[in-house]
Amino acid sequence: MRKARLFDFSLFLSSLVVVAASIQVTPPGNTYIKALLLYWAFSSFYYQLRIISRSGNSNIDYAISYTSSFGIFAGPLGTLIFETIYRFTVFFYKKKTKTADPGEFLDTFYNIGSFTISGSMGYYLYQLLNPSFQSIPFGFWILILLVVSIITLLSSSFLVFTFALSGDIKTRKEAVDLIFRSRNLLDIGKVAITNGLLLRLLQMEKWDMLIGLFLLNYVVSLSFHSKSQSVQNKFERDKFEQMAYQDFLTNTYNRAYMDKMMKELNPSGEYVGIVVADIDKFKKINDSYNHAVGDRVIQHFAKTLQAHLQKDDILFRSGGEEFTFFLRNKPFEQCFSLIEQILENVNHHSVIAEYEDQSISVTYSASFGLYYYKTGQSISMEKGYVYADQLLLESKKLGRNRLSYKNELSLSAE
Ligand code: GH3
Ligand code: MG
Ligand code: MG
Repeated sequence: MRKARLFDFSLFLSSLVVVAASIQVTPPGNTYIKALLLYWAFSSFYYQLRIISRSGNSNIDYAISYTSSFGIFAGPLGTLIFETIYRFTVFFYKKKTKTADPGEFLDTFYNIGSFTISGSMGYYLYQLLNPSFQSIPFGFWILILLVVSIITLLSSSFLVFTFALSGDIKTRKEAVDLIFRSRNLLDIGKVAITNGLLLRLLQMEKWDMLIGLFLLNYVVSLSFHSKSQSVQNKFERDKFEQMAYQDFLTNTYNRAYMDKMMKELNPSGEYVGIVVADIDKFKKINDSYNHAVGDRVIQHFAKTLQAHLQKDDILFRSGGEEFTFFLRNKPFEQCFSLIEQILENVNHHSVIAEYEDQSISVTYSASFGLYYYKTGQSISMEKGYVYADQLLLESKKLGRNRLSYKNELSLSAE
């Protein structure tokens, strides 16, 4: 960690040396001040749209960097001034919004150093190569692409270096991933085209067009950003909802979802068969073997039930080895025969499980209570569930491995 801090600070000192060595390259006064103000305002504005990716304990920002065009235009000293003002604006913004990392102050110096050095490199490369590229068709754009790629590579390398020293990166693969994967060709193209246009407009002092381009960039990013945020929010919401309503042992819905669905179905006016199903003498399975074998039996039962249900039916694990399901929009007779089939299926199959390093076969049976009625009238689903549970109890009393039922819609109560 100390080594990384030392590297960060020496990068900043090196940038001062680069600036001192090229002090004769002074930015053109009035034009420079205008450009500085515009770049500072838009970079700060743009800062809120940055997409952050976490790597270990450190954050990486992926906002479009305007450093290349400013560096090429203003030279080392001009870049140092810009970077100092901009990076400290970000620093104070983070302090104010309480989003600053503990090492933010030193990170600020790292950023100033890293971007001043890469910006200066861009300046000298451009000065050196511009005469040769001028005669080639699209020479300006090819040169900008080249310079931007080198600047990006250089600043990524600084990042890899400081992460490697702080221990955030441990393998060569992680380093290569950070340099090449995190910034793909599209990103570099985006930065190159933006900075190329900005540089041209700066050189021609077309301030209104420059502002227009900044605004375009801002608006496009804003709309993309808000869309990606809402997609992300929805994705996370769905995921949390799914987790909150899921039973992890059997992958069925849990009791919380059952309560929610009962509320939703209450006013629907649907015909519903509420079924409560419970494994018989399950305690004995747990006691004869162990809990893991018991779990396998619960999973097997859940799978069997699920296999018999149709599209709109819903299965819940309403207790330990007790399941509830809602059979929807079917005549009573169909509900009845469906449960008969389940009973038969359970009786004719056994569960293969591991017990004391051996494969064992466990047989079991289950009891059912079915309450059939029409929702949206005087009886609530909650009440219906109590009735179905009482019917289950009746099955248990009558000797288990059977179905007891009541069809509320038939004239004579069964
Ligand atoms: P009955 O035929 O009357 O339903 O008898 P039973 O033994 O099945 O009923 P009881 O309610 O007495 O026992 C249920 C047992 O289920 C008690 C509890 O330890 C066990 N159990 C509850 N949840 C789980 C679970 O997730 N995994 C396992 N393996 N056992 C569970
Ligand atoms: Mg039981
Ligand atoms: Mg039970």
